[in-house]
Amino acid sequence: MHGLNAAGMSATLDMLGEDVADRTAARRVRDGYLELIDAIGASGVKANLSLKASALGLTFDPHEALDNLARILDHAQEKLADPFVRIDMEGYRLLEPTLALFEATWPGRTNTGPVLQAYLYRTPADVARMVELGARVRLCKGAYHEPKDVAVHGHAAVQSRFMRCAVQLLQGGVYPALATHDPALIAAIREIAPALGRGNDDFEFQMLYGVRPDLQRNLVQAGYRVRVYVPFGTHWARYFRRRMLERRENLIFALRAAFGRPGRTGGGGAS
Ligand SMILES: Cc1cc2nc3c(=O)[nH]c(=O)nc-3n(C[C@H](O)[C@H](O)[C@H](O)COP(=O)(O)OP(=O)(O)OC[C@H]3O[C@@H](n4cnc5c(N)ncnc54)[C@H](O)[C@@H]3O)c2cc1C
Repeated sequence: MHGLNAAGMSATLDMLGEDVADRTAARRVRDGYLELIDAIGASGVKANLSLKASALGLTFDPHEALDNLARILDHAQEKLADPFVRIDMEGYRLLEPTLALFEATWPGRTNTGPVLQAYLYRTPADVARMVELGARVRLCKGAYHEPKDVAVHGHAAVQSRFMRCAVQLLQGGVYPALATHDPALIAAIREIAPALGRGNDDFEFQMLYGVRPDLQRNLVQAGYRVRVYVPFGTHWARYFRRRMLERRENLIFALRAAFGRPGRTGGGGAS
């Protein structure tokens, strides 16, 4: 983590958990995040958090998930220099519940924001809603195998939808996070951002730990903000506290678990 910071990048840490099927497990995840917040605060690393709503209990009890999320948001707000907590987006089945969870925190707690997936037909409308709220969005292509009635398929089609949403966010969004390793999209964003009045400090690129580090370094050298997404398993939590996550092979392994089974969707899987 210190290495990433020294290279001019910040991080977002996602604690991968076991399957969460009951309240006890969801609370264990919540408590893991509370500990993680303490560890980040104590270490002083430049990192915030990402989490999955299902890990907080969303699939079986939205009230439980909201309660867990609220505790994490409040603790982050209290302890961290960068208290932002990103809610990752999972499969389509969880889209509406995840956005509802997010909106239930808003505007009382504003240190959170959702991920929107460019491959979904509905995403431009969701982007417009987040722009209206003033919420911070991470835009990604989308990592799940969604049916053709809800998502476009095919690389070029997903690229074009990503760009359309990126423009929406760069025009009106609050500090957008553009999450892609796609050099064509990155080049297009770099070209269009100044024309839309976006300074380099008013948005960030996000990439996965260990994926295209060359591109990550180049962007930092060119004056852009880069945040690296670092997923890790709960069984690494103790290690993290001691060493602040420097073992690449563990992380690459965890990447495969981060957004479902690898396999290319319209946008490509995350691993
Ligand atoms: C920070 C971050 C957060 C994300 N959060 C979510 C989320 O919450 N929900 C969700 O559904 N998806 C999420 N994703 C995954 C995303 O939706 C895509 O599936 C994934 O990023 C692949 O699309 P791409 O545009 O990066 O690259 P692609 O279109 O797949 O590929 C473009 C190029 O990028 C490089 N590349 C891409 N992936 C890899 C890799 N694994 N290893 C090596 N090179 C690679 C290659 O050079 C490739 O040619 C996230 C991705 C990132 C970077």
